[in-house]
Order: sequence, then structure tokens, then C-alpha cells
Amino acid sequence: MAEANVQFDMTEVDFFNLMLDSDIQGYLYEPEYSEEELKVIEEEEAAAAAAQALAEDDDEPPRAGLNSWCNCLLCSPMDSNEESICCNEVQRCQFRKEEMVESGLDEDTCITSHPSFWALMDSGVLDTYFHTPRVNWKRQPRPAGRNGRLSIEQYRLTAYRHFLEWILRGERLGRGNRLVLPACVVQAIRTKYPAEDGQYRGFQETLDSQDDL
Ligand SMILES: [Zn+2]
Ligand SMILES: [Zn+2]
Repeated sequence: MAEANVQFDMTEVDFFNLMLDSDIQGYLYEPEYSEEELKVIEEEEAAAAAAQALAEDDDEPPRAGLNSWCNCLLCSPMDSNEESICCNEVQRCQFRKEEMVESGLDEDTCITSHPSFWALMDSGVLDTYFHTPRVNWKRQPRPAGRNGRLSIEQYRLTAYRHFLEWILRGERLGRGNRLVLPACVVQAIRTKYPAEDGQYRGFQETLDSQDDL
């Protein structure tokens, strides 16, 4: 399975380039502040961070290992708080949810029950999407499976990506912005395209599939 990762993994060089493109450049062009101004900024940042931590403590009970936060009924407990998110909490799913309501489904019904969801996850559809040159992959990936086919991991990552494009409907997230996919969707895709060893890289593998959107 290690080989299957090659096209998707961000190398250290890529990571460094990404840093150069974003944060570090930002620092380079920041105006200079006086000691006094810096102190004020630091205090404001510290106060904001403390307020944020407090708000998280109060309002957000831990989600990892539970699924009480789910109201689509199809999210199972996840390993981390970050990936514990229900399709009904993801604003960008709203357009597809409205389509579901129009087709007579209850508004809380899981997005994986959308009439198009499983068609989008079909291996032939994913294979076509994978090979489409217009898709803005970070690097055009090459099939890592046997006889020019996609590996199961490539199917899984392409499925995450295809789902994301489906809910974004042409919207670009912009460099560095990544969306955590709903747990129910991640689980549905993992069931269809399971890792041979049953190991997944948590929500990181769904983020890796979103490079250069
Ligand atoms: Zn859910
Ligand atoms: Zn759901």
C-alpha cells in the first residue's frame, strides 16, 4: 500500500514551497511595529486566544469517540474532534440538501441518501474524473494499481475529492483552505473503498485529496 500513497503525499519540498507561498511571505511583507505597538498586539492576541479557549471549553464538549452530534443518523464515532462533523452541520452541503427536500426526503436525511451520491462514487465515474486533465490536481496523479488501474486508495481519495467538487459546485476554496468532510460521507466512502489494512490517516487523508482546488 505504501506505493499507492506516492502521488498524493505532500513531500517536504512541497510543504516548504507551500509555506513560502503563504505564511512566510506574509511575514516578509508585514510592516514594522514599534515595541509599544508589538506589546499591544501581543496582549490582544493573548486575550483573543484565551477567550477562544474558554468558549471552546464551554460550548464544545469533546466529540471524539461519540456520535451524539450527528442528526443524519449515519455518522459513527470518529477518532478526533476535528473529523466529528455531521453532513447537516456543513453549510456547503445545503444546496444538495435542498435538492433532497425537493425530491420528497426529510430535511435531516443524510446526504449519502441523495439520489446522485452513489452514482458519483461509482468506480467508472471516479476513474474518468481521475483522468480528466482539466481537474486541477496538484500533480496529475498516475494510476498506482495493477494494469493501469487506480489503486483502492486512489479510488478513495478521488471519491473524497469528487464529493467535495459536488458540494462546491464550481466554487474554489482558495489556496491553503481545506474542508473537513462529514463523517457519514467519509465512512460511506471508506466502506466502498476500504484500506486493505484497515488503517486510515484520519481526516488528513481527506485534506490531502483537496490539494490545489
Ligand atoms: Zn450525521
Ligand atoms: Zn450524513
